[in-house]
Amino acid sequence: MAITDMKMLSGIMELTEDEKRWDPEGPSTLPLLISDAMIPLLSLPQIRKQFVPSALENEDAEGNLDPQAEAEHKGTPRLVHRYRNRAAFYTTDRCFAYCRHCFRRRFTGHLSGPASENEIREAAEYMAAHDEIREVLLTGGDMFTLSDSHISMMLGIFRSICPGVILRLCTRAVATAPERFTDDLMAILEKHKEGAPFYLMTQFNHPAELTDAACRAVSRFVDMGIPAMNQSVLLRGVNDDEATLIELSDKLLMNRIKPYYLFQGDPVRGTAHLRTDIERGLEIEKNIRHELSGLGMPQYTADLPGGGGKVILTHCYFRGKTESGRYLFGTPDGETRYYPE
Ligand code: SF4
Repeated sequence: MAITDMKMLSGIMELTEDEKRWDPEGPSTLPLLISDAMIPLLSLPQIRKQFVPSALENEDAEGNLDPQAEAEHKGTPRLVHRYRNRAAFYTTDRCFAYCRHCFRRRFTGHLSGPASENEIREAAEYMAAHDEIREVLLTGGDMFTLSDSHISMMLGIFRSICPGVILRLCTRAVATAPERFTDDLMAILEKHKEGAPFYLMTQFNHPAELTDAACRAVSRFVDMGIPAMNQSVLLRGVNDDEATLIELSDKLLMNRIKPYYLFQGDPVRGTAHLRTDIERGLEIEKNIRHELSGLGMPQYTADLPGGGGKVILTHCYFRGKTESGRYLFGTPDGETRYYPE
């Protein structure tokens, strides 16, 4: 049975003082919910930090609750149109487990519930009228908390009104509720496959999350011809070390998931204790780039506050141009090389 409060949690594990002091009514606003699939993994500190709340969330009361300024970029009540060529649709506010680093905690878990048929239709019509939108992120919350019939209705509307828009299926459920990916659900996806492609966008932050069940769930998408891409968040004490990220990348690739982004944690209220500073992030990026292939290397990226958009954070190897017109570079091994004009 999923864990929904601290009393239940204290029945299965000894809580730290910070965990005991967490105030569910505090300013960080995200409820406690830990799914069955994650409970056996809570013995690992890297998983516990992601799902067990702490009073440190309440102590970070000053941060912004909407650092990406999504509320200012609404195309429709459930559709955020912040980038010219893509949009994000809030399918529901629910998830199978709530991540303590969630950047959308102003919305997640706040009982607004599933998007209604009207809200879905309104968003699809908005996208049809804005043909610069090439992709939509079906996000929330987690779309796979919706019932099969609701998912079928939603995909049917998007496919009939804006069939040329790529649908990104954003979900953490392959890790937090792999049993959700039943034959019936996969048949619904198969039925709505015609049109612009689906992409599965996963969030695995630590190699231990790639359980056998999670990998089987992802395989069902990939076997169906749906590419899988992973978006991790760089989290203090979870994956902010080179060895963990290299292992994560290897495991993702072996399961046919492309490591896509490694996000710098957004400066959202209640998450300061989980963020790694950018200087250390850049050092990690440089070190893992040395060890990983291009296929295995995620893009270390920050979403700039105030809706500034995404920027890639990377070590710069370009040193400048010489008077003779050659370009000077530093190599990943710390040497220098000239490149002809
Ligand atoms: S699964 Fe995504 S939306 Fe849900 S709590 Fe985690 S980060 Fe937030």
